Formats: sequence, structure tokens, C-alpha cells
Amino acid sequence: MKRQRIVAGNWKMNKTFDEGRDLAISIIQQLGPSENLAVLCPPFIHLNYLSVLTNGIANLKLGAQNCHFEESGAFTGEISAAMLKSVEAEFVILGHSERREYFKEAGELLAKKVDSTLKHGLRPIFCCGEKLDAREAGNQEEIVKQQLEEGLFHLEESQFSNVVIAYEPVWAIGTGKTASPEQAQEMHRYIRNLISLKYSSHTANLTTILYGGSCNPKNAKELFSQPDVDGGLIGGASLHATDFISIFNSFPVSG
Ligand code: PEP
Repeated sequence: MKRQRIVAGNWKMNKTFDEGRDLAISIIQQLGPSENLAVLCPPFIHLNYLSVLTNGIANLKLGAQNCHFEESGAFTGEISAAMLKSVEAEFVILGHSERREYFKEAGELLAKKVDSTLKHGLRPIFCCGEKLDAREAGNQEEIVKQQLEEGLFHLEESQFSNVVIAYEPVWAIGTGKTASPEQAQEMHRYIRNLISLKYSSHTANLTTILYGGSCNPKNAKELFSQPDVDGGLIGGASLHATDFISIFNSFPVSG
């Protein structure tokens, strides 16, 4: 079994209804058949009609950018995993650095969100990554290890096999500063090794680990050619159909 290669677009808080529909249509028109998966993670308002637009396109899936851990109830402004599942989302981004920074999400809360996501048959795209000061102090491995231990490593191995990890150095997100292919590879290999130690080399080899942080059509090929980089979580460049498709087409031809 080969591990799945994925390019996921995190639209963040961008695109009105019409703009989002136009972007999605343009992506659909340019997306050729492929064994790799494209995932669109738009704001919630787009998920319902996009599930109709993307219906039957085998290599295009939908994801959300967050969810609450409770099933339902008095949580004004929140959305549950069951609601996301009901509009055919298949993925949920969790632990994004913007959620960690602006909404103080961390540790136990993220573990509960992961549990709810998996319970409803959705796959978490779990983000981890160090800030600039940690990178400069050489603490990137320690930080990422802690994030994975707190948010994911309580899972059983069978549950963990549904998780996608996104390594996103915070200093590279939205800054135009990309991690070098060597820096990305080093961290991806480190993460895979942690998974192997926690679970098994089989599960580690099958886990999709995405790179995120100013990935664009110019640098995607080199990043995606690293042996442990299985694709990307794309912010800014996912808002332009040709850029997103160009990144999606940047995987080396698999042998
Ligand atoms: C992101 O927010 O997940 C991201 C990677 O953003 P950007 O590509 O804009 O750096």
C-alpha cells in the first residue's frame, strides 16, 4: 500500500459565496484525473453547495477549517463534526497555528476535537510547527513532539491511521519565507520517526505528512520531491485556481 499524496487548500476567512463558487468551478475545470487527492477547505458557508459541485470527482474532497468537540448544544458560533459530515466534508483542519495563536487552542482541547472528528468518520489534518524563536533556539523538534503527544498520541493505532499531519513552521506561514526543502525533509523525517516509535513503522510509512508555509507553484516541485513530504497544506496560493492546480501538479511522477 502506498501512502496518499494530498494538496489541501486552506481558504481561511476568504471568499464570499460567489467568489468561492467561481474559484471552485475554476479548480474543477483544471483538475485532471490523478491518483493524488486535492482537498478544498473553504469557510463553512461553501461546504454544502461544494459537496454538490464536487460530487463524483474522485480526487477532489472537502474539508473544514475547524470544529467543536461537543455533539451539539449551546455553543454559539460553533459547528460540530456531525454537521460537517452531513454536508460531506471528509477532512477537518485542526490545530492550525492561527487557531493556536488567536483562539488559544492547544493540548487537551485539540485532543478532544481530534476525537470528535474521528468519531464522526472525518479525517483530521493536524497542524504542528514551531515559531521563529523556537527555530532559532534549535527547539523545533521538541515543540513538534509536544504538539503531537498532546493532540494525537492518545489515539489507538487504528484511529491514528486516519490522521493526516501538516508540518507548518509558523515563521513560514503567510510570510513568503518557505522552509528549505532540506529543513522540511528533516522535520518530516523526524515526525515519521516519532510515529514509528509510538505506533509502528508500518503506520509511520503510511501516514501522509504535508508541508505548509508559503508553498507556491515555484517551490512546490522541490518540496514535494523530498522523500517524506507527501504534499502541502496551502494558504495564500490556494485562493488562485491556476496556482493551486500548478502546486497539485508538482508531485514527482511515481514509479
Ligand atoms: C496555512 O495557513 O496553512 C498556510 C500554509 O498558509 P500560506 O500558504 O499562506 O503560508
